Amino acid sequence: MVFLDSFRKGCHTGAVTMDIDPAADAAERLRRVGLRVTRPRVAVLNAVQTHPHADTDTLIAAARAEVPEVSHQAVYDSLNALTEARLLRRIQPRGSVARYESRIDDNHHHVVCRSCGAIADVDCAVGEAPCLTASDDHGFVIETVEVIYWGVCPDCARAS
Ligand SMILES: [Zn+2]
Ligand SMILES: [Zn+2]
Repeated sequence: MVFLDSFRKGCHTGAVTMDIDPAADAAERLRRVGLRVTRPRVAVLNAVQTHPHADTDTLIAAARAEVPEVSHQAVYDSLNALTEARLLRRIQPRGSVARYESRIDDNHHHVVCRSCGAIADVDCAVGEAPCLTASDDHGFVIETVEVIYWGVCPDCARAS
């Protein structure tokens, strides 16, 4: 975390802002946060990119499609390292296993189907509620807010 902060500050000293570009390729994104570029990390990053909100099992399968010899443990370790470095965001809706996404910089929200667990992105909230500015931050430096909209997806609504 400390490293990332100093990295980010360092990146803003030039004329060009070098924030992490989601479009940059996986190896480049790893280098920018100071992580060693390894095949499992590249495979996992690409897997999350193509399977947003996927769980670990799905990501293991996707990473293996790219790097067949990658172990479960290597995928777990990569997911943790990438999440720690904030290249990935981990979300865990109630009653669900952890899921990962590479859309990290916009603090977007999620809508989750109570019936089948489908997850979709919801951009910044509009309207009166929920208000996302803490009424009292208790002195915390607030970095992120997690909001989950719960409901029933169109497929499940149609089926019931
Ligand atoms: Zn559903
Ligand atoms: Zn998302």
